[in-house]
Amino acid sequence: MNILADNGAAIAQALRDIHHHASRAPSTGKVADYIPALARVEASHCGLALATLDGEVQAAGDAERPFSIQSISKVFGLVLAMQRVGDDLWQRVGMEPSGQPFNSIVQLEWEHGIPRNPFINAGAILVSDTLVSHFSSSRQAFLSFVRRLSASECCDVNEAVLASEARHGSRNAALAHLMKSFGNLEAEVEDVLAHYFFQCSLEMSCSELARSLLFLANRGVHPLSGEQVTTARDAHRVNAILSTSGMYDQSGQFAFSVGLPAKSGVGGGIVAIVPGQGVITAWSPPLNRHGNSTRGLAMITELAGRLGLSIY
Ligand code: GLN
Repeated sequence: MNILADNGAAIAQALRDIHHHASRAPSTGKVADYIPALARVEASHCGLALATLDGEVQAAGDAERPFSIQSISKVFGLVLAMQRVGDDLWQRVGMEPSGQPFNSIVQLEWEHGIPRNPFINAGAILVSDTLVSHFSSSRQAFLSFVRRLSASECCDVNEAVLASEARHGSRNAALAHLMKSFGNLEAEVEDVLAHYFFQCSLEMSCSELARSLLFLANRGVHPLSGEQVTTARDAHRVNAILSTSGMYDQSGQFAFSVGLPAKSGVGGGIVAIVPGQGVITAWSPPLNRHGNSTRGLAMITELAGRLGLSIY
């Protein structure tokens, strides 16, 4: 049964209710402060959106306000690399949960410069390397890809965030150099990091994000344009890794309590794919110790629970 398509009015009400309660609940968590441009973001922003396969988007709160998508960009990067590189990608990056913080270095050394999965920082830097190596301008290719998927020409990077990412990117640089030392990066470290910071600095709204990822809920076909963005097999693979690794070292708990493929970013966004039905996006900047939005988690958990959306 398509729960989301068949209950439009009830779902719009549920979104408003859940947003209302979450935005008034006492704030827990801490806004990302590893760069000044993110530390300045107002903690009280709160948005929730749901896009369904018919192209409808229901939204509540600050769902139209662009925010820093940060690690949610890893999903777009991976899909673009899978399109371009094919199965060879999986020789250079794994598909197992890391059980470690997203920017951890230790595991990468033990495992000879092969990142556990494409959604930890090392994995996304590796994916960035393939994009830099396969496109004459990987940043332009990335931006065009996201604009096409979201049907919005306005998606763009925030220059202040981009400058801060680069200035405070020593840990990401360490990950890149470590992979280079193991022979697992082809391009120059500097170029790879420039791409990685660029994609992290992209801003999108909850509605744009939900719309842009609909192809993952629809076996690789974007329902709005009819474009086959990935094969059904690759859409399945992305969703599988999102389920096991998209919420970092909280992925097990998220699967346990929500049961949807999902990806978070330190800008406070979370996207959750509801296969065969749609995409949910939540945004609220304060983060828990895993780097996941506390209100975002609360809103998605409540919505998935009320509507019975778990895939398990
Ligand atoms: N720009 C952040 C970093 O590289 C992205 C991490 C995240 O969103 N979890 O550390």
